[in-house]
Amino acid sequence: MTLATETDSAKRTRQSKGGPAKGRTALERFGKIDMPDLTYTKAIARATAPLYEKVRHHIPEIEWPVHAPYVYWINKLKKERGAVILAHNYQTPEIFHCVADISGDSLQLAREATLVDEEVIVQCGVHFMAETSKLLNPEKTVLIPDMKAGCSLSESITGADVRLLREAHPGVPIVTYVNTSAEVKAETDICCTSSNAVRVVESFDSDTVFCIPDEYLAQNVARQTNKKILTWKGHCEVHERFTAEELLEYKKADPAIQIIAHPECHPSVVAVADYAGSTSGMIEYATNQKPGSKVLLVTECSMASNIEEQAKGVEFIKPCNLCPHMKRITLPKILESLVYMKEEVTIDPALAKRARRAVERMVNLKPN
Ligand code: SF4
Repeated sequence: MTLATETDSAKRTRQSKGGPAKGRTALERFGKIDMPDLTYTKAIARATAPLYEKVRHHIPEIEWPVHAPYVYWINKLKKERGAVILAHNYQTPEIFHCVADISGDSLQLAREATLVDEEVIVQCGVHFMAETSKLLNPEKTVLIPDMKAGCSLSESITGADVRLLREAHPGVPIVTYVNTSAEVKAETDICCTSSNAVRVVESFDSDTVFCIPDEYLAQNVARQTNKKILTWKGHCEVHERFTAEELLEYKKADPAIQIIAHPECHPSVVAVADYAGSTSGMIEYATNQKPGSKVLLVTECSMASNIEEQAKGVEFIKPCNLCPHMKRITLPKILESLVYMKEEVTIDPALAKRARRAVERMVNLKPN
């Protein structure tokens, strides 16, 4: 799915306010600053040398003079703007290691942003993640460097679709994956992540529960509960590309390889994995559980590059599936975000209140 314009969910959330955000723009509120000179000077080379050491295995030395001025000015301007940079695990190594203040999965990022003093959040991830950060940090200014950074899963369903499901299945609780827009979250009972989905589904008395919109996540949940799980036909275009056959080929070539898969993959892929979990769970497993010296990470391929340093002694095999939406976020766009204070993510307050309730119910869910 190619998203060439503002994402549909971004448009709907904006239109629900009756047009563009009213009042002063973020640039008017925070004031103008000039775009810095991006020459690679000796001073910039010196200042960024320690950061280059973190990405040396991924960025050839000859390319560093292109990245370094952006890294230098982003780190300088984020302080000037009072901004914190959140980077999802699927961002490129130069963003993840050289400019991010907080990295993690989408919910982790939004929650950690509530703990920092900075007034501005620059979300290096896709649009639903920026919305989740805005939901949990309503008083802060949330910027996304590219408003077109969407998600095939999030765009697969609308709030109107959820209302129709409720009408057709009265009384059936609706659990929504966090990878959805605020308008979808607002229509549902509770959110879930890939790591707590089974627990959230089982928190209801009902024998039947909707788990939407990811069909494969729902099927993977259904294998771990006695409840009847109803779902939707949404898929992550990155994870749906993996097949059990290709993973078994790797195992055949080297039986010692440990396969770690994301539950957005087809159940047949999860069935051949040694471990399945959220991106944070996968990182924890690869770094702390020491599963073996060769690990095949069945997820977006930047993640392996980002955690190599952390998981010392593990050789990652990366079947390279990139998320085109995540890759819309680049250093030049992050710098523009800080200079021009764009693009600001806004959510209608009434809708935000309902969507936040679904997220908070999940966060406050007591362990079984
Ligand atoms: S990796 Fe999949 S779920 Fe994540 S943003 Fe990309 S399309 Fe969406």
